[in-house]
Amino acid sequence: MKKGIKKIVPYSSFLALIFMSALACSGSDDSSASDEEEVSENEVVTELHAAFAAFNSDAVTVILSDDGTEVTIETTGFPDHTSIYWETDNALYIDEPGVSKTTQDTYIGGGQGEAASITVDATPDLTGATVATQLNTIGIAVSGASIFNDQEGAGDLDQAAGSLDWAGAHKGPGVYHYHLEPTPITSDDDSLVGILLDGVFIYGRQCRSTGTTPTDLDASGGHTSTTQYTDGEEEYHYHIINEVYAAGNYAYAPAYVLFAGPFQGY
Ligand SMILES: [Zn+2]
Ligand SMILES: [Zn+2]
Repeated sequence: MKKGIKKIVPYSSFLALIFMSALACSGSDDSSASDEEEVSENEVVTELHAAFAAFNSDAVTVILSDDGTEVTIETTGFPDHTSIYWETDNALYIDEPGVSKTTQDTYIGGGQGEAASITVDATPDLTGATVATQLNTIGIAVSGASIFNDQEGAGDLDQAAGSLDWAGAHKGPGVYHYHLEPTPITSDDDSLVGILLDGVFIYGRQCRSTGTTPTDLDASGGHTSTTQYTDGEEEYHYHIINEVYAAGNYAYAPAYVLFAGPFQGY
């Protein structure tokens, strides 16, 4: 696979968050901490979140900024699973008779290529404000490919559903991207799916905290609980909402929309 931009990143085995406010409450006589100093706007982390260890390292590079406030996720965008959208001589190419490609000459690595890069807050801003998603990359999946929302061009996804492969993804002239539950990554389980532009991780339809489909999700599919990557701590995260999407001519029904928004972590 492509290793051109890969860098070695130390993955932490635990979540290490240091909040400025916690420092202020240490109780000891801390001469350097002034009472007038307010809590920092950007919460600082010292280690990458443990969930990044789940990303396909052949495609994805994750970098924590020097000041610990931002994480940049760069990807070649080449997924580590089969699809009709690979070139026919690629080992990952499969025929999918029920899928009508967006255009016959499109393939992964062709056109504008698949590369994407997003920079997110190391700690999502969960103050209650929501932001709508937009067309284009709204997140990066653990496979390395892009995540899109439930819209296609100016309309809804229904008309394009017949072009979606078994991973709920397709490629036009732009990057290869998922719209639906990406079954090579998760199929009605609690696997990590990826990270969205607001810095919040998204998981499959089930939650590790209960071993079931959550019933306490907000409008974005989010809730706060432990996950397999939080070492017992509760953390806000999204799930693919367990609601069948009647996607007209999708070849692999039932389908589930991956993320319809809005973002909660901006
Ligand atoms: Zn699309
Ligand atoms: Zn959960």
